[in-house]
Amino acid sequence: MQEKQATIYLDNASTTSLDSKVLEAMLPYFKEQFGNASSIHALGQTARVAVEKAREQVALFLNCKESEVYFTPSATFSDNLAILGVVRVAQKKGIKPHIITNVIEHPAVLEPIKHLEKTGQIEATFLPVYQEGIVKVEDVERAIKSNTCLVSIMQANNEIGTIQPIDEIAQVIGNFRGPKKYPLFHTDAVQAANYLDLNVEKLGVDLLTLSGHKIYGPKGIGVLYVKQSTLLEPIVFGGHQEAGLIPGTENVANIVGLGKAIELVKSSKLKVQSLRKLRDKLIDGILKEIPQTFLNGSREQRLANNANISFKGVEGEALLILLDQAGIAVSTGSACSSGSLEASHVLMALDCGKERAHSAVRFSLSKNTIEKEIDYVLNVLPKMVEHLRKISGFKV
Ligand code: PLP
Repeated sequence: MQEKQATIYLDNASTTSLDSKVLEAMLPYFKEQFGNASSIHALGQTARVAVEKAREQVALFLNCKESEVYFTPSATFSDNLAILGVVRVAQKKGIKPHIITNVIEHPAVLEPIKHLEKTGQIEATFLPVYQEGIVKVEDVERAIKSNTCLVSIMQANNEIGTIQPIDEIAQVIGNFRGPKKYPLFHTDAVQAANYLDLNVEKLGVDLLTLSGHKIYGPKGIGVLYVKQSTLLEPIVFGGHQEAGLIPGTENVANIVGLGKAIELVKSSKLKVQSLRKLRDKLIDGILKEIPQTFLNGSREQRLANNANISFKGVEGEALLILLDQAGIAVSTGSACSSGSLEASHVLMALDCGKERAHSAVRFSLSKNTIEKEIDYVLNVLPKMVEHLRKISGFKV
């Protein structure tokens, strides 16, 4: 059977389309400029120059030094390196490190922390996020202990789009830390990059994660910002690349693509206001036209492109399939948790119950979303929900 191509793509939190300017920038590095950035000859040096230009583009975006930007194979790798790398340094000091995170982090943060906890290597605190999906700064303050080596709180959530008070958390950590090195502060800014200010100085973070494919760049490339003098142990061995922290031949084309994508974020940020309007039209339209629908996560502290809505009496997966048949691509939970029948850990953390978690659909818009597409969704969605409620016997 031939796969039907989605025509209205509202799954941008899973991945974004590649910007044509990004592709254009990348193409030479697949063909004529195929050099290894570590080679001394001219081809190698051309690749090196391209890698360093991308580093400059990222540094400009984050307001940091170029030497603080590390290219990684993915944001998942960046998150793992931030956590495991910090823990390994702290362990050498002979203490059992403590990490603070929260229950709605991406698995790329939660899983390494859970693994370290399960194997007895660290103590961990998983803070709640309450009904709004937001971490309370006072909870962070209360949780910090003398052996806390790392606080890892994402800037914005991938499923419900809620935005965390990163600068306030940094303040609390800074007050506790004083002249000492710990606790360090890491934020996963993968979903925030298109919409929020990622000036690391203003945010007050020591470590920050980015991903190429959420910002109209290529898949398989990430960034870890590491503030100068922050000690990290490598987690992979076998090469000198990225100051020995991320060994392996640089993926030059992807690095160039990420650099270009980062550069373009600035211009797409100018459109955030109109994107927010489209998102609000979608949210308000659904909540008004379809009874028993609920927005998941804070309405105010929310990314401009995210609408995560539960449709009471409807299985999210069933609605996803009907929408897909109508040429509309959405997601239930995050892409990474799709395929498993377990309710999303993020929605379950909001304490809204299993049924509401299973009936949630995530619409994530992009800089390319147009009003006509939102109108189309609002036109076809009520009938789909009505149909699914009818066959499941749910009465409004
Ligand atoms: N962190 C967050 C918040 C994400 O949304 C994702 C991807 O869904 C990742 C990390 C992992 O990114 P990558 O696909 O680059 O490994």
